[in-house]
Amino acid sequence: MIIAMEPGAEREHVEAVIKRLQQEGFQVHISQGVERTVIGAIGDRTRLKADMVAAMPGVEKVVPILQPYKMAARDFKPEGTKVEVAPGVTIGEGEDIHIIAGPCAVESRQQLLETAVAVKEGGASLLRGGAYKPRTSPYSFQGLASKGLEYLAEAKALTGLPVVTEVVDASLAQEVAQVADVLQIGSRNMHNFALLKAVGRAGKPVLLKRGLAATIEEWLLAAEYILVEGNFQVILCERGIRTFENYTRNTLDLSAVAAVKHLSHLPVMVDPSHATGRRLLVPPMAKAAIAAGADGLMVEVHPNPQEALSDGPQSLTPEEFYKLVKELKPFLEAVGRRLGRLRDEAEVRSSLSRS
Ligand code: PEP
Ligand code: MN
Repeated sequence: MIIAMEPGAEREHVEAVIKRLQQEGFQVHISQGVERTVIGAIGDRTRLKADMVAAMPGVEKVVPILQPYKMAARDFKPEGTKVEVAPGVTIGEGEDIHIIAGPCAVESRQQLLETAVAVKEGGASLLRGGAYKPRTSPYSFQGLASKGLEYLAEAKALTGLPVVTEVVDASLAQEVAQVADVLQIGSRNMHNFALLKAVGRAGKPVLLKRGLAATIEEWLLAAEYILVEGNFQVILCERGIRTFENYTRNTLDLSAVAAVKHLSHLPVMVDPSHATGRRLLVPPMAKAAIAAGADGLMVEVHPNPQEALSDGPQSLTPEEFYKLVKELKPFLEAVGRRLGRLRDEAEVRSSLSRS
């Protein structure tokens, strides 16, 4: 249930409600707005009925959450979640749109560093690259594993770009979390509940890709697994679903973006690369994603796509990436948003000294 306290409710009244809920075994999440405090509580409503809470001093109203997912529901945090990854890189509702760009897989030190510099130049504020790769075939390139993580750390040191990389197994969550700023859960693993719990406890933001055959409700329930562990830093990523169409690799479900923005408070990004599987279709779908309300994009970029060890056909060259970012501008303006950018340490220091 959601407990909305009266505007300006006294602190002791807020605390009494929280205490009562906790005594009855409820998991409590507090959302402190400018005017009022909203308390989200998950637990057994036969132990503590909504009417009992509604009767407590300072409580304005109590609303049950009817959806099967609770903490992921929009009612739980009506103002929307913002995930702060690095200075200047806050993903969520607001003006800024962020772009995660980089190769499908980390293939070599040279390939990664070159791509990292190029995507930063082009306007990306996060670097992607798989070190552990979930491949459909066991004969395909599986990634450089811990060596790949080392190169990602080096690319981050070189460019300052925060790193997004995939965790394919719960046993790797801690190792990947030492390098990654955002832990990616891939489409194939969206239903891996042990993994969802592990990243829920890893203390880093999570990018949760939609399962290739998952409904919106299943996707939000997967997010719920992470939230239940106490990690509210969750970003959803629509990457296309499997349909009968086979010209495209998947079918980009942009209606899911608008639907999830309505149903949930979590930020939503779109990956037009895996959604289409074709370089040609990445720019138009990236623009459409912005128009549909996405909070960011994930785009695969490779310095030499024809040589890529994975996903070459959908990877943009750095030049194509620059062109796309330029072309996004009017679309961003049309929805009242702009390209967010990473702030370097000097900028952060000078803004702190001004405030
Ligand atoms: C990826 O982003 O590296 C990836 C494998 O994508 P997906 O899980 O969406 O297939
Ligand atoms: Mn890929």
